[in-house]
Amino acid sequence: MMESKKKLGDFDTLKSLTIVNGLLTNLTPIRVGLGREPPLEASADVAVLRMRIDGRLVPYIPGSSLKGVFRSFIEQLARSTDSNIHEPWDFKAMEEEAKTGKPCAVCGIFGSTELASHIRIYDAYPSKDREPLIRLKTGVVIDREFQGARPGLLYTEEIVEPSYDWRFRMDIFNIPFPGTNDERSKYLSELFDTLKKLGLQVGARKSVGMGLMILKEASYKTYVLENGALKVVADGVI
Ligand SMILES: [Zn+2]
Repeated sequence: MMESKKKLGDFDTLKSLTIVNGLLTNLTPIRVGLGREPPLEASADVAVLRMRIDGRLVPYIPGSSLKGVFRSFIEQLARSTDSNIHEPWDFKAMEEEAKTGKPCAVCGIFGSTELASHIRIYDAYPSKDREPLIRLKTGVVIDREFQGARPGLLYTEEIVEPSYDWRFRMDIFNIPFPGTNDERSKYLSELFDTLKKLGLQVGARKSVGMGLMILKEASYKTYVLENGALKVVADGVI
């Protein structure tokens, strides 16, 4: 797998590294969990993901969840100008891209079965200032067959209350970002613009508006390799 990914990769040389740092705020309640399987210590049927930091369990948002949301957003952008954008599970299309050596813009950012990802998104942990409050919500089990609530059948779910800050970091490899004509750079700029102005939804229960996150206080720094050391060549506000 690593061998085949190398064919399309440009990772033998580090041309540039751009690090984006910022804060994400959840405007609405959020839950990123492990599906319907609660961790052993959880008292809810559906629990929020937690990580042990400094001896305490705190909620966090995995980088992979953010990456999934960003990928489908950029897929939509790309599809509006290019009808050839394939589905993320279309392995045939990815192999074809590997053969021709021309990945589509989406794989050129997020990677594919044949190509390593050009971005890395870190897990987002709560800002140190305020630790998020987790609330236990009780809901009624909806019977899909009869399209209604079944009295007496309750479940509990955990949610993180709105308005908490989460530390965000994305590393961008060998994509000239921001402010260039590179197609991938334009899509990333549009992603950050949308994240700042409208927000994007992350996690469970999107249909009832949960998980709406906006980006604030985002900045970037671009490094290149020079004489065996990383040197800052650009920085600014996103
Ligand atoms: Zn592709």
